[in-house]
Amino acid sequence: MGKKVSAGKNVRKSLVSSVKKLLQEISADYPGLEYTRAVDTYIFEKIKETPLKAAVMREGDSLMTGNLLWATDKDDGVVVLFLENKKYLYPTNDNVKGAFFYIDKKGGGRIEIEMHPNPMPCAICSKPMEIFDESSACPSCGATSHVLHLEEWIQMKGSCSVCNARLAIDSQHKIVLA
Ligand SMILES: [Zn+2]
Ligand SMILES: [Zn+2]
Repeated sequence: MGKKVSAGKNVRKSLVSSVKKLLQEISADYPGLEYTRAVDTYIFEKIKETPLKAAVMREGDSLMTGNLLWATDKDDGVVVLFLENKKYLYPTNDNVKGAFFYIDKKGGGRIEIEMHPNPMPCAICSKPMEIFDESSACPSCGATSHVLHLEEWIQMKGSCSVCNARLAIDSQHKIVLA
């Protein structure tokens, strides 16, 4: 693990809202950062030389660390990070407590993500929605659920479990008002 040579920069706000803003925010401090942009997806270069790492922590314990391969801004304002170990991260306002960016000695970058100790429960199964879980929101009331649970629920009931708004899944695979 690289030694920290700079004070951490607080990047929580951009991490949960926009990859574009996150990369703008860290690029001034991080000359090794190189990426190719394809629409709203940012593909990281120099993974071997100067990787951008993500470290997921909970209450001081490191749960996972990996090099970022790509990150995307989805059109519903959701950030998706994909790591070399084939794991996806879905940082949101509800599951991220804090996030800090560091440069290591070799010129790589590291985003330390502190998970929230009590993330929001899924509106359908009531289990906490962790940073590893893809979530989706009701377009009417904003209640969030695991995406697979909400899709199954809509297929069975055709409505939101919280506000009862009629919902459907459109041809773009988006959850919309019916
Ligand atoms: Zn669920
Ligand atoms: Zn609803």
